[in-house]
Amino acid sequence: MEKRVRVRFAPSPTGGLHMGGVRTALFNYLFAKKHGGDFILRIEDTDQNRFVEGAEAYIIEALKWCGIAPNEGVGFGDGKHAPYRQSERKELGIYKKYADQLIEGGHAYYAFDTSEELDEMRKRLEAAKVSAPQYNAVTRQNMRNSLTLPEDDVKKLLDTGAKYVIRLKVPRNEEIRFNDIIRGWVVVNSAQVDDKVLLKSDGMPTYHLAHIVDDIEMEISHAVRGEEWLPSAPAHILIYRYLGLENDMPKLAHLPLILNPDGNGKISKREARFPVFPLSWQDPREATPYVGYRESGYYPEAFVNILALLGWNPGTNEEIFSVEQLANLFEFERVHKSGAKFDPEKAKWFNQQYLRMQSDHELAEAFRPTLKEKGFEKDEAFLIEFCKLVKEKVQFVHEFWDHGKYVFIAPDTYDEKVMTKKWNDQSKALFTRVLNVFENITNWTSQTIHDDFENLVKEAGKIDMQLLRVLITGVAGGPQLFDMMALIGKEESVKRLSTALSKL
Ligand code: GLU
Repeated sequence: MEKRVRVRFAPSPTGGLHMGGVRTALFNYLFAKKHGGDFILRIEDTDQNRFVEGAEAYIIEALKWCGIAPNEGVGFGDGKHAPYRQSERKELGIYKKYADQLIEGGHAYYAFDTSEELDEMRKRLEAAKVSAPQYNAVTRQNMRNSLTLPEDDVKKLLDTGAKYVIRLKVPRNEEIRFNDIIRGWVVVNSAQVDDKVLLKSDGMPTYHLAHIVDDIEMEISHAVRGEEWLPSAPAHILIYRYLGLENDMPKLAHLPLILNPDGNGKISKREARFPVFPLSWQDPREATPYVGYRESGYYPEAFVNILALLGWNPGTNEEIFSVEQLANLFEFERVHKSGAKFDPEKAKWFNQQYLRMQSDHELAEAFRPTLKEKGFEKDEAFLIEFCKLVKEKVQFVHEFWDHGKYVFIAPDTYDEKVMTKKWNDQSKALFTRVLNVFENITNWTSQTIHDDFENLVKEAGKIDMQLLRVLITGVAGGPQLFDMMALIGKEESVKRLSTALSKL
């Protein structure tokens, strides 16, 4: 029988969740949704040195903002497999018994080496030109562990509370094979695999042991995670095997990296000139705050859409997908093996598409707070007209202000380039006639402004529209001019034109 689909997102609370992490969560979410399964949030906090205050709450808020909340796990669901924090699970002794089982089966051993001894080993191997020094089937023979020390000594050390770690006993030369849903068959020789620490001296399990125990106990069907875990997967296969759980282990899927726009290397939060975090993040240990996608004005739906296409393709040229559509379409067969380049300009384009899907009413309400901040208040009808006028130009709601502030503020300077080129006595005389025409319009609409203006053109010859725009708004570009003047109103438009004529 096929296992029920149960996937987990298992971040370590070591900082703000970056976009790569959110993409991992998203692919898990989509896969669970598609198969009517469960999506679990497990917090892997066994590395107490790297624990960051606030990171867990941040992760939960970010998943909620993205609209991809788990249905089980820390902060979610009915807690059937609780606790979901590994530090709490450790307190219940969940991991220790698996480590003991491995020891009893002869597949793990106690290692008593101090950090100085480990350093020495590393130096010794480096001096012997070993390229990647590691604790393994060869080097462990010269170290202080339960494989090299006499049994009595080991017992004494354990009885007297000596510090130790438990390590996996990796065979010297054995082929390890596993099938990754995205990468296909992966074959690694065990000589490449080090004797990973499974249980640390503080009694905490490492990620390697803990995630395996939890994936088994939480009945996880698929472990979907970042590519950076691929090199550890062979060791994980051995652990499952030695625990007699190879047939119960989840299927593995290692997602490709998200790369910098230039394609070289992983996105770096310090170097990126675009948001890297879903929500603004301030690491309590660092001075630099990072601005999030949310605070940059992205719609969560747009952000999710962007992430979905980083490393996955729908098999068509379509690009705009709701989360529901993504969940219907998603399959690992269409996840790529190679890294996905992130394009910040394209990300903005996505936001623009979502902005255009909003109703004018929604846009008006979204823009209202910005306008208020700038010191203006307008009624709903006005704001709706304003948004209609400007929305084609913007990618973010906050840009409504930059592109349309002339509607609210009369100019005090006039585009120099246009004025130098086009302003002279003749144009001044012509625009005095324009002012006169405008003053006489009784029903002030875009259409009547247009018609009366065109009538004047017939009489007086060509009138420079760009110059008119500069006289009314101060700048050379912007939304459709007569529409904008209709919105500005007759009184204000006429006032602006006559002020310009008297000043210039
Ligand atoms: N705690 C690991 C991480 O933060 C999880 C890896 C996994 O999903 O197995 O990347």
